[in-house]
Amino acid sequence: MSGNCEENPKPVSTERVSSDGGANPVHGTVVLKPAKMAWIVGMTVVALVAGPMTFSWPAFSVFVLITAVTICGGHSVGMHRLLIHRSFKTVPWIEKTLVYLGVLVGMAGPYGMIRLHDFRDWGQRQSECHDFFAHRAGFWKDAYWQLCCGIKLKQEPRFTIESDLVSDPFYLVVERTWMAQQLVIAVPLYLLGGLPFVVWGICCRVSVSLIGHWLVGYFAHQPKDHLLFVKGACVQGYNLPRLGIVTFGEAFHENHHAFPASAKLGFLPGQTDLGWWLVTGLERLGLAWDVNTPETLEARSGLTINRENRGNFVREPGWLHSLREG
Ligand SMILES: [Zn+2]
Ligand SMILES: [Zn+2]
Repeated sequence: MSGNCEENPKPVSTERVSSDGGANPVHGTVVLKPAKMAWIVGMTVVALVAGPMTFSWPAFSVFVLITAVTICGGHSVGMHRLLIHRSFKTVPWIEKTLVYLGVLVGMAGPYGMIRLHDFRDWGQRQSECHDFFAHRAGFWKDAYWQLCCGIKLKQEPRFTIESDLVSDPFYLVVERTWMAQQLVIAVPLYLLGGLPFVVWGICCRVSVSLIGHWLVGYFAHQPKDHLLFVKGACVQGYNLPRLGIVTFGEAFHENHHAFPASAKLGFLPGQTDLGWWLVTGLERLGLAWDVNTPETLEARSGLTINRENRGNFVREPGWLHSLREG
């Protein structure tokens, strides 16, 4: 399955993924990854069967608390805004703590997360890309592709992770053992609340986090009304304002496509971004600095603003004036 372009598009490079050597983002095959499939299916089956049987309000509270901490501090702030986009700076122990919380989400290790993110990002920036990168295959097929498979391109781009990251012993260990890291919380959970805490704190949480992550990714790439648009990119991001709070800001995906290096994802008036609150909290404590926002970043090439939706703001943010109308 491939995109609908007959010619090979001209690929654009990103920092870690390089198109040099004729990489092609269109032609490739989606391949089943048995371990990935076994992981999500296993967690979901246990959640569906044992979840209702072991339900209690304390177990449910454990589920909510660990989900919030790992998705906000780990996935959104640690993995996405810090490790992947380097949208702010912090001290090493804070970075490691946040990234480790991201590993506990149960999606991948630090290098795996960078790879997953940057390949998709690279594909979406091109003039054409495979349906896999664009979430264009339809709801159920995309669920299967994203949750159980990977893509093997005919001509892969070059992928290089920063040398300080690949030589870091901590990241190396958690990369190799990211699935087993669930045991680090499973043991104390079992000692505290027995099987119900393990079922809700691990299986229900990992299943909901992974399926929720896919759902947000799917709907945040389905065309709808928008304000910001990146000309020349074959895939646009869209905001899902109703999910802003439960995703800790990650659902403001149109904003993220417009300013990928911004630590603030909910930067338009009325957008609550709880991940940003954490970054500003760290900044106030002197533990985060050089924090990027649309005010401090240069607009990416091709970024335009939708004339019709411009009037939605009573007070326009300053950076918006510099954008061309498209
Ligand atoms: Zn995207
Ligand atoms: Zn990103």
